Amino acid sequence: MVLENIRVVLVGTSHPGNIGGAARAMKNMGLSRLVLVDPQDFPSEEAVARASGASDILESAQVVATLEEALVGCRLVMGTSARNRHIPWPMLEPRECGVAACEQAGQGAQVALVFGREYAGLTNEELQRCHFHVHIPSDPAFSSLNLAAAVQVLAYEVRLGWLAAEGLPLKFEAVVEAGDEPVTADELESYFVHLEQALVQIGFLDPLKPRHLMSRLRRLYGRSGVTKLEVNILRGILTETIKAARGEPHKRGSTDV
Ligand code: SAH
Repeated sequence: MVLENIRVVLVGTSHPGNIGGAARAMKNMGLSRLVLVDPQDFPSEEAVARASGASDILESAQVVATLEEALVGCRLVMGTSARNRHIPWPMLEPRECGVAACEQAGQGAQVALVFGREYAGLTNEELQRCHFHVHIPSDPAFSSLNLAAAVQVLAYEVRLGWLAAEGLPLKFEAVVEAGDEPVTADELESYFVHLEQALVQIGFLDPLKPRHLMSRLRRLYGRSGVTKLEVNILRGILTETIKAARGEPHKRGSTDV
């Protein structure tokens, strides 16, 4: 599985709540492999609480002493940074990071996304262990995201990359109701007959002086992409309109369509 080849590495995290928040963010996006490098406080109840239903990710998290251990076997390592560092390094946009991660992971390679400490980020030495750096383009005047929020953003980008690679949709498929298909020309024709009849009945259309009313209405309906179901509703309204104009009693529950 592609997403199983992508690990999230948190280096020197001080707040266990952020580890829990990161686990939740990962699970939301289908990621499951969490590696913790020298966490200050783990395992922790606070991490479990913040993980909500993602405590399985905390239970299976691997705890290691150094970044080197966390990166064993990785062919692609991407390190995140809230700031621009002094030594220029190959940079990827978050979106490119998601695509690259899925591309490599899809070929069976191990991929790591590395995140730094809450107070100090990643050291220059740690950043130099990464093939690419990724910066989330935040406001330069307040550029540092909460650690779990940064994991969320990149986990989401990975998900976008994965969905695209799998050819899966980004939105729920619209539910097609029965009768939701477009109306046919002949059905629309009989609707126009009904409509004209109603308009005459209520005195809106004078059959002796019809002007361009029906052609304008035809043009309007032609533009609307009206469906069979909608034409049935409109016809129900016309039937009741004609009855009302004739002073006949109206049908109860006619709006229940
Ligand atoms: N004071 C630290 C901020 C660290 S925030 C510093 O200036 O580096 C904790 C971690 O969240 C960072 O190490 C990084 O992994 C991630 N992060 C926060 N904001 C980010 C951003 N805008 N782009 C990429 N990663 C970010």
